[in-house]
Amino acid sequence: VHNAIEDAKGHLRVFCRVRPLSEKELDMDEEVVRMVDNMKIELPRNGVFTFDGVFAAGRQEEVFEECKDLVQSTVDGHNVTIFAYGQTGAGKTYTLHGTPQEEGIAGRAISELFQILKRFQQSSNAARSFVVSASMFELYRNRLVDLLRRPEKRAKSPPCSPPCSPKLSLRSSESGLQVDNLAEEEVEDATQLKRLLSRGLAARTTAPNALNAESSRSHLIFTIKVTSTDGQNPLSGKLVLCDLGGSERLKKSEATGEHLKEAIEINRSLTALGDVIEAVAERKRQVPYRNHKLTQLLQDDWSGWGRKRFLLRYDPPGVGLEVEDDDHQLSVQHKSL
Ligand code: ADP
Ligand code: MG
Repeated sequence: VHNAIEDAKGHLRVFCRVRPLSEKELDMDEEVVRMVDNMKIELPRNGVFTFDGVFAAGRQEEVFEECKDLVQSTVDGHNVTIFAYGQTGAGKTYTLHGTPQEEGIAGRAISELFQILKRFQQSSNAARSFVVSASMFELYRNRLVDLLRRPEKRAKSPPCSPPCSPKLSLRSSESGLQVDNLAEEEVEDATQLKRLLSRGLAARTTAPNALNAESSRSHLIFTIKVTSTDGQNPLSGKLVLCDLGGSERLKKSEATGEHLKEAIEINRSLTALGDVIEAVAERKRQVPYRNHKLTQLLQDDWSGWGRKRFLLRYDPPGVGLEVEDDDHQLSVQHKSL
């Protein structure tokens, strides 16, 4: 049932989150956005826009409710990508990573994941063992920075700003770009994974002043990988959380030198991403992944739809293990759990 519902909701869903006005915006006393209903917003000067859903100043919990089932999909062997797209200050990082008091999607997904695994282990004695691992990198001016590796000792090397982590190299493979040398750490529980996440976030290029303009010029990609096997049916799914660079266009007068280069690179990558999303939404045969490193890096996470994969079901508990293949020819293997 779970997968049928997810299928019906669509492979690509776009939600809009409206954040509360900042003090400066309150002072301007100008209507910025008006909610029409729970799927539409109106921007006074630009018209009405329709989404799969609109969160009007939604709480973190409400936003996560919408994504919660995708964690199950990851355990079932799907690749799921969640993007946060918008201008700097729109609330992307808040939505994905939140604050210690108000966890975002990432922290909540981690809790959910380990609850799912715990329930699985409690509801069955099937010998399916799970391995959870994670990686985190930043794409900054077309360079990759591994956020989980400690910077190399600075003693002899010249001061390096910003990337100090070992050089990551890229390798083309059938399913897109692979990042060689990217640290992928295994974790045992939610606490360990949350700790890893905080460590990665603290290591961002712009860590000392993460709210300044620079943080908006990089893409941050956090991947949780869940693999499992029962000796016969291996499953592998990924949950990719992508905090994209700010989508604003810099005014020509403001952007000079390095800033201009950064702005051009971000615009290029977001355009390439838009083209890929459009092609996927329209189910085109050719998806232009190759136009930018960002889309090449995400290719593997996106192109799994056509490949054979297996879905693992384990509820209701005790009934059996259902394995479904990708062309929806259902085959059920009964196993005593
Ligand atoms: P972005 O990552 O898109 O540049 P941030 O996530 O850093 O934007 O958000 C900008 C500011 O607005 C931050 O101070 C953040 O805490 C606040 N903020 C964003 N969304 C919300 C929200 N839904 N509720 C409360 N505060 C928010
Ligand atoms: Mg941000």
